Amino acid sequence: QQQQQQQLLTPHSVKDLLDSVDAFLFDCDGVIWRGDVLIDGVADTLDMLRSMGKKLVFVTNNSRKSRRQYAKKFHSLGISVSEDEIFSSSFAAAMFLKTNDFPKEKKVYVIGGEGILDELELAGYTGLGGPEDGKKTLQLKPNWLFEHDKSVGAVVVGLDPDINYYKLQYGTLCIRENPGCLFIATNRDSVGHMTDLQEYPGAGCMVAAICGSTQREPIVVGKPSTFMMKFLLEKFNISTSRMCMVGDRLDTDILFGQNAGCRTLLVLSGVTNISTLEDSSNHIRPDYYTSKMSDIQKLYLE
Ligand code: PLP
Ligand code: CA
Repeated sequence: QQQQQQQLLTPHSVKDLLDSVDAFLFDCDGVIWRGDVLIDGVADTLDMLRSMGKKLVFVTNNSRKSRRQYAKKFHSLGISVSEDEIFSSSFAAAMFLKTNDFPKEKKVYVIGGEGILDELELAGYTGLGGPEDGKKTLQLKPNWLFEHDKSVGAVVVGLDPDINYYKLQYGTLCIRENPGCLFIATNRDSVGHMTDLQEYPGAGCMVAAICGSTQREPIVVGKPSTFMMKFLLEKFNISTSRMCMVGDRLDTDILFGQNAGCRTLLVLSGVTNISTLEDSSNHIRPDYYTSKMSDIQKLYLE
């Protein structure tokens, strides 16, 4: 679904937006925070939306934390958000397995962070791998056989700053030796803000490594895939036509909202700048755009 024209958010259009939506889905990095730094005006704007009775949901592709770890991050930044208002791609990976009746006796090999392992454990699954697997090295000698657990039935790949050849071999063997093994990607973001000053390679490059070795395409559970949206809609009884997705990235956030029929608002406080938005090669056009999410409050009060 393509939008012909995006509009700069104005005092008039923000009132229309607030009248026509009951729920706001907020992307986190680039909208709520940048790395570990809260973006100006976020806390007051969220307070205002809550006082207007709007449902607030936070949807992040960053798999490094679990929902309960994100709830702590919100609290440490002075924002009160409950775990069940948070949908992270780490949680989505565990929920994908659960909704597809992935057997509890099978194991899940993780190329990724603690957030994925935490969500798997909370969902009752046994996760292998994770950050610590990075400490091992491969001994590529003649007649040396790489051992892997044959009960692995799914490989989950997310951002892993400790990725190494051992993990790539482990994940590759699980998938190549067992055609029934699921290959799940938390997200395919090309880059992310591990700190607030710079971009770093995102989960997309770890996912691409396993695509390369296995010649398989993953099931993506994060934005823009519809899995998280379907899951979220089952939980909150709100029609997507009365939702607004607020994000900083066109190919994940805005597409995620548009695929579901939500209103979309792009903020320029993250990875997308005005020239990218207006470039003729960009075909993903939000309904509205503005410089940062606190403009919702600023323009409404004007
Ligand atoms: N993945 C990683 C590892 C990140 O660091 C980030 C942003 O910092 C993202 C994904 C994107 O997160 P979000 O969907 O909240 O913008
Ligand atoms: Ca973002």
